Amino acid sequence: EQPVIALVGRPNVGKSTLFNRLTRTRDALVADFPGLTRDRQYGVGRVGPLPYVVVDTGGLGEPDDVTYHHMQRQAIRALDEADAILFLVDARVGVTPGDETLTAELRQRGKRVWLVMNKVDGVDPDLAAADFHGLGLDAPWPIAAVHGRGVTRLMTAVLEDL
Ligand code: GDP
Ligand code: MG
Repeated sequence: EQPVIALVGRPNVGKSTLFNRLTRTRDALVADFPGLTRDRQYGVGRVGPLPYVVVDTGGLGEPDDVTYHHMQRQAIRALDEADAILFLVDARVGVTPGDETLTAELRQRGKRVWLVMNKVDGVDPDLAAADFHGLGLDAPWPIAAVHGRGVTRLMTAVLEDL
């Protein structure tokens, strides 16, 4: 069974950019994974010998209106299916109310959450990280999904921890 890694975070933090990077070497469409909803948000990839399924979610940390209701339900289902959750935040923006709401929601689900601080290209990662301490999660893993910086290191740690 390949572990399922869910990417969550408010809009624009870089979930889809990371998803594309994590799945680019393989067909991003998953043909058939028993027990998982068939959906094109799923992709497969591999770090060294370690394979994974990755899920790109949307709709969490959004206003709670009818437009987002369907996406929120999808995203919550993805969380329930996941073996590990990567919670993306934006190093350039710092903590937002949406990040705080999501933190509370993730904490309730009781799964291992990896705080991933994206867009560290061109910013001081230590300074940016300090802003996220208040979320009360583990220290953030700095990455730049757009260039791939830190991504292999992060995924190796996540997969070896399972
Ligand atoms: P999503 O809404 O969370 O799926 O975010 P997207 O993946 O669509 O990315 C939102 C924006 O952030 C896009 O313009 C991306 O090019 C940009 N972005 C994503 N990753 C990085 C990064 O590592 N560094 C920078 N500077 N921009 C990024
Ligand atoms: Mg997206």
